Amino acid sequence: MNMSDQGILVVVSGFSGAGKGTLIKAMVEKYHNYALSISATTRKPREGEEEGREYFFVTRDHFETMIKEEQLIEYAQYVNNYYGTPRQYVFQQMADGKDVILEIEIQGALKIKERFPDALLLFVMPPSADELKRRLVGRGTETMEVIDQRLHRAAEEAAGMTSYDYILINDKVDSCVEAMHQLIQAQHRKVSSNLDFIEQMKSELRAI
Ligand code: 5GP
Repeated sequence: MNMSDQGILVVVSGFSGAGKGTLIKAMVEKYHNYALSISATTRKPREGEEEGREYFFVTRDHFETMIKEEQLIEYAQYVNNYYGTPRQYVFQQMADGKDVILEIEIQGALKIKERFPDALLLFVMPPSADELKRRLVGRGTETMEVIDQRLHRAAEEAAGMTSYDYILINDKVDSCVEAMHQLIQAQHRKVSSNLDFIEQMKSELRAI
């Protein structure tokens, strides 16, 4: 037996506009042991988004059926829409030894930590609040009203950040990607993630 070859769950949260999508995309392109979970949502697709690539876009009814049938490992409401993580893909990828990245908001992150204590929770921050607003406005995908709701939500989410394991400041994409990758690699080496291996070593030592 080796150190655990089962993949781990990596939750990446961050204020809307902090750039977590860009970071994750860059990390998954650079390193190949990561699988990105695709969520289901009731939000309407943005221009350029594709069904099954950014999200599975579903109706409220469909989403509520997924909840009832326990097809989601977590879900939450965010600014008037549902978002949730489909179970099957995540479990399959972890069994295949891939680390699965969940780009989800804070309520979902906390549910994941409760159900999967070995999950790694990362929080991506912009260099400053002004920079966050500048990025949200610059993205041009939301109305001013939605931007205000999202900034308001960011202020609420800041309160929950202390439940996360690490924060990453998204100043330069390259160095932030490196930091994220290193933290995930370190999580694999945690004692608590390798109890089976440790038990095996103990019994082998006793047998000598
Ligand atoms: P957006 O509408 O900008 O794509 O996403 C809004 C928020 O929902 C983001 O913070 C995003 O990380 C979060 N989100 C996306 N998918 C999920 C999910 O499956 N579960 C939860 N809890 N949040 C999600």
